[in-house]
Amino acid sequence: MTQLHDLTVAQLAARLRAKDVSAVETARHFLARGSKHAALGAYLHVSEEVTLAQAAAADQRLASGDAAPLLGVPIAHKDIFVTKDFPSTAGSKMLENYRSPFDATAVANLASAGAVTLGKLNCDEFAMGSSNENSAFKPAFNPWDSARIPGGSSGGSAVAVAARLAPAATGTDTGGSIRQPASFCGITGIKPTYGRASRYGMIAFASSLDQAGPMARTAEDCALLLSAICGPDPDRDSTSLDLPAEDFTRGLNDSIDGLRIGVPKEFFGEGLAPDVRSAIDAALKLYQQLGAKLVEISLPRTELSIPVYYIIAPAEASSNLSRFDGVKFGYRAKQYGDLMDMYKKTRAEGFGDEVKRRIMIGTYVLSHGYYDAYYLQAQKIRRLIADDFQQAFKQCDVIAGPVAPTVAWKIGERSDDPVANYLADVFTLPASLAGLPGMSVPCGFGAAQMPVGLQLIGNYAAEAKLLNAAHRFQLATDFHLRKPEGF
Ligand code: GLN
Repeated sequence: MTQLHDLTVAQLAARLRAKDVSAVETARHFLARGSKHAALGAYLHVSEEVTLAQAAAADQRLASGDAAPLLGVPIAHKDIFVTKDFPSTAGSKMLENYRSPFDATAVANLASAGAVTLGKLNCDEFAMGSSNENSAFKPAFNPWDSARIPGGSSGGSAVAVAARLAPAATGTDTGGSIRQPASFCGITGIKPTYGRASRYGMIAFASSLDQAGPMARTAEDCALLLSAICGPDPDRDSTSLDLPAEDFTRGLNDSIDGLRIGVPKEFFGEGLAPDVRSAIDAALKLYQQLGAKLVEISLPRTELSIPVYYIIAPAEASSNLSRFDGVKFGYRAKQYGDLMDMYKKTRAEGFGDEVKRRIMIGTYVLSHGYYDAYYLQAQKIRRLIADDFQQAFKQCDVIAGPVAPTVAWKIGERSDDPVANYLADVFTLPASLAGLPGMSVPCGFGAAQMPVGLQLIGNYAAEAKLLNAAHRFQLATDFHLRKPEGF
């Protein structure tokens, strides 16, 4: 019989409904796997007591015939989401012992759909990073090769799902943090259209970009979770879209015959590693065999998305992070003189290097005298990037290309080189800046047998189309079913 941890969310939910297994047994199984593989660094906080209590409550709901779609399915949350029953740290010393009085909307929505929380997952500090090396607490290791990074900032989420420590996890994506770690760990992840998922209770990094989304093994599982996560939240998130909740599983099996896939030539330039390129090319060929048509398109400002993002995101971060002053939240320096000194020491001790770098860049680009030259220019180019996508979507239904220029790199290889990290975001940033939905689908293996993800980008609110295209691909391939050795 298939082991519990090898079941997809859809299969596990069916077993739970059929009472083949209880929610408590399932939770125990995954808690045990989590502690057996603790060295991977996926989890920051677990609590057997909390998880088992939630699982027992799910069993009661199951017994009463409750038909919630995820009833009894254990999932884990990126530690960017606040939770009342676990600490919420955003991977930062600043929030080391912070406890939220409430649950983030994404967490609450998944709980009402029946999910049980396995714990909180490691991530780069305040979601700033691409390797999980910026976590203030510990690194996370890629289960395909523990000498390599899992990607970031949702590194712990990707590790937990790839190593079968959780059937699915939540992540957040500001500039690629769901798609890139999903790609590096060989799993599936989707960032919805900006505004589809409530940001309430997501510890803010760059508010005009931050979005929540699921990371799981299959597109079908992502559809199940996304249906629970999304929905309007006008009272608590002013940028929430007024779109009704949607069942994203409905169109999964639709034919993709005649689907027009736009292939942006700027995604296949010099910077793309040949091993990644051949996996992507093969995936595109397979799509043709499945009936899709490839259309060459252009996203001419792709490279500009790097300077634009690395102005706008730090600008917003510098403002968002001003609340961490030692008075209102979390850490306060032990020794200080006057009030100003307390602020300074608290922030000097509480934040890590990358976060400080971004606060400085952000403060600089927003300062009088530089605002017009940097921030305002960046905003204008951001609009042009969004316009380029609208031009492209006149010719195609979805856009496909690589998620990242290379496979996961070695731990430490780029940790002293912030610019090298920033450049590697080139293919995920455009969709983020435009607010478009994007996903990563396992499509092969590259150098050192590391996973490669295909990125699919859709127009606004076209999540169902992306999930449909991904699901049809997964019916024809087994990349998403392979698992790292030893797990
Ligand atoms: N790697 C990007 C950054 O460091 C994206 C992070 C994210 O999406 N949270 O900002």
